[in-house]
Amino acid sequence: MVTSDRALVEAVTRHAGASVVDDLVELGGQAGTAEAREHGRLANRHEPELATYDRYGNRIDEVVFHPSWHWLMERAVGHGLQAAPWEQQEEGSTAAHVRRAAGFMAWSHTDPAHGCPISMTYAAVPALRVDETLAKEWTPALAATAYDPGIRPVSQKRGALAGMGMTEKQGGSDVRANVTEARPTPVEGEYTLHGHKWFTSAPMNDVFLVLAQAPGGLTCFVVPRALPDGTRNLLDITRLKDKLGNRANASAELELEGTHAVRLGDEGRGVRTIIEMVAATRLDCVLGSTALMRHTLNEAAWHVAHRSAFGGPLLDKPLMQNVIADLQVETEAATALAIRLAAAVDASADPHEAALRRIALPLAKFWVCKRTPGFVAEALECLGGNGYVEDSGLPLRYREAPLNSVWEGSGNVNALDVLRALGREPEVLSAWITEVGHARGGDARLDRAIDDTLELLGESGEAEVAARRLAGRMAACLQGALLVRFAPHEVADAFCASRLGTTYDGTYGTLTSSASDLRAIVERATPVVS
Ligand SMILES: Cc1cc2nc3c(=O)[nH]c(=O)nc-3n(C[C@H](O)[C@H](O)[C@H](O)COP(=O)(O)OP(=O)(O)OC[C@H]3O[C@@H](n4cnc5c(N)ncnc54)[C@H](O)[C@@H]3O)c2cc1C
Repeated sequence: MVTSDRALVEAVTRHAGASVVDDLVELGGQAGTAEAREHGRLANRHEPELATYDRYGNRIDEVVFHPSWHWLMERAVGHGLQAAPWEQQEEGSTAAHVRRAAGFMAWSHTDPAHGCPISMTYAAVPALRVDETLAKEWTPALAATAYDPGIRPVSQKRGALAGMGMTEKQGGSDVRANVTEARPTPVEGEYTLHGHKWFTSAPMNDVFLVLAQAPGGLTCFVVPRALPDGTRNLLDITRLKDKLGNRANASAELELEGTHAVRLGDEGRGVRTIIEMVAATRLDCVLGSTALMRHTLNEAAWHVAHRSAFGGPLLDKPLMQNVIADLQVETEAATALAIRLAAAVDASADPHEAALRRIALPLAKFWVCKRTPGFVAEALECLGGNGYVEDSGLPLRYREAPLNSVWEGSGNVNALDVLRALGREPEVLSAWITEVGHARGGDARLDRAIDDTLELLGESGEAEVAARRLAGRMAACLQGALLVRFAPHEVADAFCASRLGTTYDGTYGTLTSSASDLRAIVERATPVVS
């Protein structure tokens, strides 16, 4: 699975070296098996169920999953796709996040839904680092490659998982409107929470980073599911959401009444503290959406290579070649940007990389996630009626496709975050200019697009109304720059001619490349059976 994704192999090799690709071959091979595919199907077909009470009427608030969910989770954790890279980085690895990003993308082919608890566990660590004691208490278990479900104190677990509770009924984007109250107890740093959370995914995880209003303002808290004495913390699950997609995963509504919580960071600094977790999950939104593109394109390219219509394979029809090539160009652009972002996490001690990550994360989250639903619909259509039927696996991906754009900051919120970063941190624009500048002279259309984008930035400045246009242009320039520098000529040329042109309307299958270039791009899209 990993090695047949040529754009991914090239990106990982570029940023982390060939040995990292070799290291992922087993994971990729396992993700591509019929067994893994079947577990993905079963985990989604047999959805999690809430068990509120045991048979004696004791409150348990457990979520019961199909065994295939646990099969998927055990392997995702076992491959170190959760918080392992943070510890590996501490131990001197310079490519732990790229390795993990590529592994996460490859493993997502099995099922996208269980990526949620895996991502949140990955993302919790940078936020926990605000407090050395709490980081020491939780990070080893979050980074351990043992999947150890069940409600027990972290000291009794071989591995742990993390979640987050920010969103309340009155709003998720504007978390400052949170009403859940945190009351200090006589023990320094300890509080009880009183209120609710309207969305808390993976409620069976071991620990949650939760926002609540303390006397000093909105504050972040560490909320364990089990108390140190082994009893259940008061995290009452009132309901599991009946969601469009992501159905193998459980997303809960919680009531908090006397819930034990430990302060993470200072009172009043809640957003500042949890933003590290949000940023890391945004990376996973980009990885997850890119993987959805890759997976559905694999299915489409394979189908058209083996399906005949009007006297020959669909893949030989010029217009179908244009559609597959166009989807491949989109996937290559998303992959190059996703792995570039992961490399920036590996190199975050470098100021340029840190500034680039700050601006490129909301750009990519906005752009890549926003383009995914249309992409998946187009890939589905390549299979004709069969693509609309559950057996193909494409309806599941179609339902999943909008999600990465909704959570962790919806489209507008990320576009506005780009404006905020540009307004408050001048170094982020310099980082973007430097990054796209590496490709200057490589393609006149890219050079023009960069200049036009800078002009747009000058004209619209901090105008909210133009935020999407600006974010989209900045993201496309970043993608174009990466492709011009590193992708085969025909891929970069097709990208610059379409996405960077002024008349592009987003419809797939409208490339103007030569027939031989289209064929060369299609060849990169077609899965190879080894
Ligand atoms: C399946 C699923 C799982 C989730 N899991 C979790 C979880 O585990 N933990 C958690 O805390 N949350 C979770 N969420 C919640 C999610 O993060 C929020 O739904 C999201 O942040 C948006 O918040 P909201 O739903 O309150 O929408 P709102 O904040 O009401 O936003 C509605 C729309 O308005 C736009 N908007 C907001 N502000 C502005 C503005 N200033 N200008 C222009 N447009 C604006 C938004 O982009 C959005 O499109 C989950 C959501 C889903 C769907």
